[in-house]
Amino acid sequence: SSSSSSSSSSSYRSNEISALRQELNVFLDKQGPFYEHVDTIYIGRGSSTHSTNDFTITSKTLELLKSKDHLVHVRAFNLQQKRDDEWDYLLNVNHKPVDSSEHSKKPKTKAFKNNPKYCSCLPVNITTAIQPSLNQIKAVWKTSADRLVVVQLVRKCTQEKLISEVITRPKRASSIGKGNNDVVELSSEVSLVCPLSYTRIKIPVKGDNCHHVPCFDLESILNYARELHMWVCPICNSPVPFKSLHVDSFMSGVLQGTDEGDIRIQMKPDGSWGKCEPIQEAENPRPSKRRRIETSAVVTLDSDSDDDDFLNSLLEEDNPSSPNIDSPTPTTTTTTTTTTTT
Ligand SMILES: [Zn+2]
Ligand SMILES: [Zn+2]
Repeated sequence: SSSSSSSSSSSYRSNEISALRQELNVFLDKQGPFYEHVDTIYIGRGSSTHSTNDFTITSKTLELLKSKDHLVHVRAFNLQQKRDDEWDYLLNVNHKPVDSSEHSKKPKTKAFKNNPKYCSCLPVNITTAIQPSLNQIKAVWKTSADRLVVVQLVRKCTQEKLISEVITRPKRASSIGKGNNDVVELSSEVSLVCPLSYTRIKIPVKGDNCHHVPCFDLESILNYARELHMWVCPICNSPVPFKSLHVDSFMSGVLQGTDEGDIRIQMKPDGSWGKCEPIQEAENPRPSKRRRIETSAVVTLDSDSDDDDFLNSLLEEDNPSSPNIDSPTPTTTTTTTTTTTT
């Protein structure tokens, strides 16, 4: 499904091609999971702070763009820093300014802003500005750098495809007994509610960097990252890039062993757990199930994080003149019928 030779290459210069080829893995890795690279339409060089690049759109590409799941993205890849630069001053396509309002959704918090560990790249969608045959991109940046201007044909990845990619990865073993975080000596409650969606977790996931028992919901983190272009754990603030996400086997078992109405469990230091006493009498009360975990008797838990504080910290602006950014509340329009097994 990928090709790199079908576009017009008349405007390629060989040193740009070799510069991108050397960094291609980094370039494609920074792409993030929501768009799949289909073709490189154009590679040009930005000299110091300015660039004007002409490129050709073939009729074959135009045909693909009609299908709506294909888009044309433009990225400014900084060759020294090996990451994408923002279009921070001017971006014109075919003599018209391009709407880069997507950038205003970027978190303004210093801890996350421009930190490549948290952020995937910010491609600008120029599909609607594209015209048949000859096109021109004119860009001006505030700072001088050695940049490649890359026009990419990409295809949208569906939520279903991303979900199935994560749930087919090896499941994460329980973090109980790892002992590299706080040791919990008393029984503690573990929430079954996703801190992003405030609803009961359907597919419990964590990142490779996470060392805590609670999880967040896979669909919620995908919606959240799609909205904010950022991959951060809502529980421990670690970077959780897409490829670090794994379904958690312990929490999968807990969710399967509890009812839809259960929003938390009681966990003992030895790793056994039981349902919390319901606040109100359930219609059909059932005895609590108990399960034993066959690992050593230490429970690791990160300190509680306040969900609202977390969201506020992401939305906190360090530039008072910036416009308000949209609410990061994830949209949950798709329904997943996937079940997980341990
Ligand atoms: Zn975490
Ligand atoms: Zn992993």
